[in-house]
Amino acid sequence: MLHPNRTGAAGLSTAAVHAGEARQKPGFSITDPIFAASTYTFPNTQAIVDFIEEKHPREEYGRYGNPNERTVEDKLAALDGGEEATLFASGMGALVGLLMAHLNAGDEIIFFDECYHRSREFCRKHLTRFGVGFREVTTCDYAAMEQAITPRTKFLVSESPTNPHLSVVDIERFADIGRRHGVLTLIDATLCTPYNLKPLEAGVDFVLHSATKYLGGHNDLLAGAVIGSRELLEPVRHLRGIMGGINSPHNAYLLERGLKTLALRMERHNANGLAVARFLEGHPRVERVLYPGLESHPFHEIANRTMRGCGGLVTFFIKDADWRQTAAVVDAVTIPRIGPSLGGVESLIEQPMVMSYWNYSPAERETFRITDNMVRMACGIEDADDLIADLAQALG
Ligand SMILES: *Cc1c(COP(=O)(O)O)cnc(C)c1O
Repeated sequence: MLHPNRTGAAGLSTAAVHAGEARQKPGFSITDPIFAASTYTFPNTQAIVDFIEEKHPREEYGRYGNPNERTVEDKLAALDGGEEATLFASGMGALVGLLMAHLNAGDEIIFFDECYHRSREFCRKHLTRFGVGFREVTTCDYAAMEQAITPRTKFLVSESPTNPHLSVVDIERFADIGRRHGVLTLIDATLCTPYNLKPLEAGVDFVLHSATKYLGGHNDLLAGAVIGSRELLEPVRHLRGIMGGINSPHNAYLLERGLKTLALRMERHNANGLAVARFLEGHPRVERVLYPGLESHPFHEIANRTMRGCGGLVTFFIKDADWRQTAAVVDAVTIPRIGPSLGGVESLIEQPMVMSYWNYSPAERETFRITDNMVRMACGIEDADDLIADLAQALG
């Protein structure tokens, strides 16, 4: 709103560099200055009245907005082809803010069951405390999702691809279910990014990103965003101003800087993911590889038809290995660091059974299809040959 000269460029790289930014900036600077302000001043009382009567859009107080986050929001909206974006301090902040703004006691929400476990935990443990019903159905079982809809259902939620199984949702089919039943649809598109897929074009109502991952891209910030129509995001923005989950101007600038190279980075993440997956699939110590870009993946056809690439996340299983033998492989790599998260320039590797499911019972792990010999590697933007050589020595 404060930066009206959004570029009309269709290309994603051009939009990533320029969209949302003013052509001329304060101090004739090519980059956006960081507005390190908690409040914004008015020259006189009439200016306050004009602002309240919406004659001049501008900032008022830092909890409601700041120029840096608005620039990033306009860039994100342009990248995903949405009318507007609302930025939050984290991906979970964005999910909680969106659902709290749109759900009322008595409403129901339905998830595909491979969605991020904290997203489902928020609904199962917390939204239910406020009288919102929560249901899960098997990921990509569209008939089950449709059958679970009742007159009280308000939201359908999925991710695509999912993590760590990398199931790929038929977004058009998912959006169509929502449209036919008058239910809002949300895709958490953290793993695909607008470079690989634009769910809004397929007809979903909201796209959510943990911008902590590929959008920021450098493992140095936390942020989240929801993109959709102005009308549906208006209550979300308003509630954010009350709940207080806004990004600081410094953090928003860091995200703006990261976004400039989104297309370049995604090209490399896609290429590295595929190269590493192909290498692992041919390795005698690897039982199975999950990567939608491989012909062997159950969702290869839909991924191939709808996505530009499949990203940097690769899940694989060590043949005949218990959790300690699997950990030995993880511990033997020298380039990827061991840790959670994905989407940054630095590769990361982890064993989901240890990193995210240690406190779960074997039976619970089985329902989540998390096995002791499962490894998740988030390929960064290093040279594929180096990543492959490193994995080869770790497996050997
Ligand atoms: C990381 C992640 C989130 C949560 O985002 P934060 O920025 O960590 O709050 C939500 N969904 C997916 C798919 C994620 O990978």
